[in-house]
Amino acid sequence: MSAYVIGYEVYCDGPTGQDDCPESAAVRASVASRTARQVRADGREQGWTARHGGGRLLDLCPSCTAERQDGAQPSPPPA
Ligand SMILES: [Zn+2]
Repeated sequence: MSAYVIGYEVYCDGPTGQDDCPESAAVRASVASRTARQVRADGREQGWTARHGGGRLLDLCPSCTAERQDGAQPSPPPA
């Protein structure tokens, strides 16, 4: 038996990026999504956003995105 990576999980970084998400949310990735980019694309369809904060990318679930009223914008859909 050989192990293999079955996918990539994206978790919400919380409304501030410092605290855990109150909902402990994670993107529900589709079976076909194996990379961070693919999973984030799934997340966008579910209302997730990604923004830069503190020199890294913060993933925000829909509820945390709504909580941040400071200009977080959904990423544009893929062409
Ligand atoms: Zn969240």
